[in-house]
Amino acid sequence: MKKYSLLLFCMLLILAGCVKESDDQTSKQAIKEQEPKTEKEEKSHMTLTAVGDILIHDRVYNVAKTGKRYDFEPMLKEMEPYLQAGTVTFANQESVMGGSKLGVSTYPSFNSPKEIGEQLKEYGVDVVNLANNHTLDRGEDAILSSIKHWKDLDMMYFGAYESKEDQETLRVYDTEEGISLGFVGYTYGTNGIEVPAGKEYLVNYIDREQMKKDIQEANQKADVTVVSLHFGIEYETNPNQEQKELVQLAADEGADIVLGHHPHVLQPVEWLEGKDGHQTFVAYSLGNFFTGQEELANRIGGILNLEIEKDKDGEIEIHSPSFMPTYVSHGDWKMQPLYRVTKKELKQADKEYEETKKHMSKWVKDLEFPEE
Ligand SMILES: [Zn+2]
Repeated sequence: MKKYSLLLFCMLLILAGCVKESDDQTSKQAIKEQEPKTEKEEKSHMTLTAVGDILIHDRVYNVAKTGKRYDFEPMLKEMEPYLQAGTVTFANQESVMGGSKLGVSTYPSFNSPKEIGEQLKEYGVDVVNLANNHTLDRGEDAILSSIKHWKDLDMMYFGAYESKEDQETLRVYDTEEGISLGFVGYTYGTNGIEVPAGKEYLVNYIDREQMKKDIQEANQKADVTVVSLHFGIEYETNPNQEQKELVQLAADEGADIVLGHHPHVLQPVEWLEGKDGHQTFVAYSLGNFFTGQEELANRIGGILNLEIEKDKDGEIEIHSPSFMPTYVSHGDWKMQPLYRVTKKELKQADKEYEETKKHMSKWVKDLEFPEE
């Protein structure tokens, strides 16, 4: 987000320079500055942006390979403005980013080059969830190596940890806007691979009691509680009973936002009411964001945006959810907003876009679909 704020700031400076030349404008400005602050001005505002799975298959990293390095820029660069637009941008890093030294690998036991993290960071991702069914694919070495890479990049990570102390340290993202977000994340399982004895900190499993404790801690320490849940059934386009129960539990505990992923397809969003009327926004599955999965439904994902306001009493309001469906093209794995995909690129592009909008908004009728 920083680059864009800087650009905006520079533009404002230039504008301010122009305005000074007119006395009339200057006096108007002075009057405006003296006016008492309205209630609206006393509110802080931010945008939380979220994308689903980043799951790098061999058919993707082989295309990205340039000599000894990997360059994902041609695939990701169209997404940069949308990722940068969020004050805080979340992604689910599904394939563990152990780096090339451990040998990159694909399904069913993933290990991704660290360049993916460098480029996600460069293009605007601020925080990654690491708790998912592939966390233990390449064992402890790959997890620790991936955490080292994330730390080198100064990327906030959660859901997988390097020690018990690390696991017990709640992640709180403090924004310059004065709104803080607490992140907790869990996975339903790790594909039958067991966590080494005594190293339970390596990945957070869904555990209702632990979730309650963590959410309560996040409620105390942050303005907004965000729960990341890796759950549901692969390729199912609607949430199942277990997803609904877990999300209700999060809502009842006072979570503000639930970001779901794992099905590799989109599931709708919904507002839930928790205990005492608390409102929670839920995305049951954000689908794949960047992937080498080949089916069309697995190559359609999206970017969720939520506007967050904090008033002078510290009250939080989340509003104006919007969703921009995204598309990964097969073969070159380039990403772009789905609304921009031409018939030449995908014959049924219009139909897919309309159906995706209908599907995502079926429980939130005023969900917006930005096209810019
Ligand atoms: Zn998964």
